[in-house]
Amino acid sequence: MKAATARIGADAARYELENGPPTLSQFNYFQQRMSALGLHDALHTEFEAAAARTAQDMGLMPDHARTGVKDAARANVLAVDGKNHTSPTRYVKGDQWVDKDTGEIKERRYDPNKSTWGEGGKNRVRQGAKSVVAWSRHPASGTRVIAGLTLMRPKHDGGEAAAIVDLITRVQDLNPGLTHVAVDGALRGTHLARLTPRGLVVVNKIQTAPTTAENAVTINGKRFRKKRVHTLTHHSTAFGACEHPIYGIGGGLFEEHVTSDGTVTHTRLPHHTTARGRKNGDYTDWYVQTRIACGRTDPTSGKLTPWTKTFYVPINPTRQDQIDNVNRGEHVRQIPEIDTDDFNRIYGMRADSESGNNGLEHAWYLDRIPSYGYDNQLLTLISYALMNNAVARATHHARAAARPPGQAA
Ligand SMILES: [Zn+2]
Repeated sequence: MKAATARIGADAARYELENGPPTLSQFNYFQQRMSALGLHDALHTEFEAAAARTAQDMGLMPDHARTGVKDAARANVLAVDGKNHTSPTRYVKGDQWVDKDTGEIKERRYDPNKSTWGEGGKNRVRQGAKSVVAWSRHPASGTRVIAGLTLMRPKHDGGEAAAIVDLITRVQDLNPGLTHVAVDGALRGTHLARLTPRGLVVVNKIQTAPTTAENAVTINGKRFRKKRVHTLTHHSTAFGACEHPIYGIGGGLFEEHVTSDGTVTHTRLPHHTTARGRKNGDYTDWYVQTRIACGRTDPTSGKLTPWTKTFYVPINPTRQDQIDNVNRGEHVRQIPEIDTDDFNRIYGMRADSESGNNGLEHAWYLDRIPSYGYDNQLLTLISYALMNNAVARATHHARAAARPPGQAA
């Protein structure tokens, strides 16, 4: 509207756009004016603010629905994933063609935002544009909302993982009721360490350790690196201090035992995720509450009595971790991957973003993003997201209106 106003005046622009979709030439002009006026950042910001209003209107990411760590409601889980887009052309900068009528040598049109990107979860790369998209929805179909998105530039600072973390923090700032994030394997412990102190529960897979890796343990058929994350010491045995080394493996806690013949075994410890310490009203300091058992010999009577202790292992990085070179966020998780019932249920909601991404892809002819360069591709993505969100909101309200009075959503 602002772009068209400069050309034909506010009233004419409003009349034209309120009486039907823009024509191709209007949209081309809009694209040019948006770039000339440098309005992309403002539009992007306003889109995400509008998406938050849509989500709130639909009861997504509600502030009152704070629940336990394990029982995340669908409307409170943000699904975030990377999305590769096929470029509108296969040509690259410098490709030429000959005009047979005039004999002129001309440059091929190319996509300056095209780059080579890894494809999440698959050992291959793709040429094209790359975005990361955050989805929120109800259990009912047709309610999927794009809560935020980022179109990456070819040399995006920090890569896909950094783009995902930034996107999640923006969405959380706009939707304070958000509690859980299900996100793909691009994130590592260092990225989780930026999200969990914000009060979020992050559910994502841990990078598989190579089969040859030392200091790795196989659980449920998957090889995880192990890392010592805690040491519990008590001084009350007849033989002096007793030390229990605690390891993080697959996101859960284990006590390591070494027998006299050098055999190493690991005993799983109970895992109860707790959050303590409020900051701005949110619990931000995460711990695993666990319990250990040991035999204690009374020094005077010589009698062996069982000794148990409940203790807390931090999930957020500690100062000591820097000294000990511990990437805590990678090894100690709020919902460990090895706790498959809880993990799979919430992580499974991430697959939903792939359905959303599929819709995004099929909206375009031959799956190609129909625009060249960062500015225009961002406009294309935001346009799609606005359409998607408008349809989702209409679907949600139409369903609510059709429901007999008194029946809850
Ligand atoms: Zn002990």
